[in-house]
Amino acid sequence: MNILVVNCGSSTVKYQLFQMEDEDHYNVMAKGVVERIGIPGSRLEHHTPSGDFVEEQPVANHRVALELVLATLTAGKARVLSSIREIEAVGHRVVHGGEKFTGSVLITDEVLAAIRSFADLAPLHNPPNILGIEACQELMPGTPQVAVFDTAFHGTLPEYAYIYPIPYEYYEKYRIRRYGFHGTSHRYVAERAAKMMGRDLGELRLITCHMGSGVSFAAIRYGKSIDTSMGFTPLEGLVMGTRCGDIDPAIIFFLMDKEGLSAKQVEEILNKKSGVLGVSGISSDTRDIEDAAPHNHRARLTLEIIAYRAKKYIGAYYAILGGLDGLVFTAGIGENSSYIRKSICSGLEHLGILIDDERNTVRRKEAFISRDDSPVKVMVIPTNEELMIARDTWRIVRTMR
Ligand code: ADP
Repeated sequence: MNILVVNCGSSTVKYQLFQMEDEDHYNVMAKGVVERIGIPGSRLEHHTPSGDFVEEQPVANHRVALELVLATLTAGKARVLSSIREIEAVGHRVVHGGEKFTGSVLITDEVLAAIRSFADLAPLHNPPNILGIEACQELMPGTPQVAVFDTAFHGTLPEYAYIYPIPYEYYEKYRIRRYGFHGTSHRYVAERAAKMMGRDLGELRLITCHMGSGVSFAAIRYGKSIDTSMGFTPLEGLVMGTRCGDIDPAIIFFLMDKEGLSAKQVEEILNKKSGVLGVSGISSDTRDIEDAAPHNHRARLTLEIIAYRAKKYIGAYYAILGGLDGLVFTAGIGENSSYIRKSICSGLEHLGILIDDERNTVRRKEAFISRDDSPVKVMVIPTNEELMIARDTWRIVRTMR
């Protein structure tokens, strides 16, 4: 089955075309990204096993972007299919599935209406996801479309973990609660971790650390997410590239008062000017911070805060899991930064986390980085959300046949 995986952001469309034999046997025929949609300098970057291809042309909106993707897949020198009809299903990444969707679903009019109704919960993310779904429905009428939600994997959180201690009426009125994000990534690496450990996911207690420009950790007991660090929005939790993570909410009102800022302005500061960028004053990219650390106090401090707060979450999740079998690092920082992995794990030997320095030099490939005698297996696992979306799509569409 040929499956197109589509991930629409506010100004980007990322895509991958999979040829799936079954869940474990597949081939990536092409992948790429359309960038700068609706702004000057739009371009498509397309990769196939036989070569790379760049096309620069104005792309006014998501529909035009998807038309360009389909044209590139089916015509010209980079083509891998002879017709759009060879695409048998489309899998969409959708950020917010609200409380309704705790798994992936075939997109119907009713599902699309529900995704639309969650737009105020994820105003930056769900609207472009919807544009992508609508464009694919128009361009490939009759082709089944599946939605895979970032929030879905955390649908198993117990009520006491997702209800915030604010007046309950706000949960009833606005559905203010912890949703959690990066679910597709946490689910993928948890499944891989079980395979690597040669154990059944249903018997493992895992902490998965997704550390990219956004950062979230998840506590996974016997295959189910029981807590996660992002909350009502992706602003809560650990230190991120430009997002603050956990802070005292009173800081917001103090800043509004002292600096004469509006709520919108403080929201912007906490989302775009905080985290790694805010503390270091150098960059949101931890590579720059690691480079600056030897001669810059605030760069060193940033790295210390990242590790300190990560340790606190690991300790908390260890407690609620009732022990720990595996600790997984993934995404840009988790897959690459030996320094940050080491600084998080060091001092956690009393929890049974014993890192091997030589093994910890690994980058971007699946590996154990703990010592053979470490009670907790520590792993680096490159995430693959696209594959997860393709698998879910394959499973759902196959049952329709
Ligand atoms: P996104 O959440 O945007 O998909 P990624 O998972 O690609 O992000 O992670 C991006 C971040 O990963 C960068 O901001 C950078 O901090 C970090 N990163 C990527 N490569 C490295 C590296 N080699 N060493 C340290 N950090 C890295």
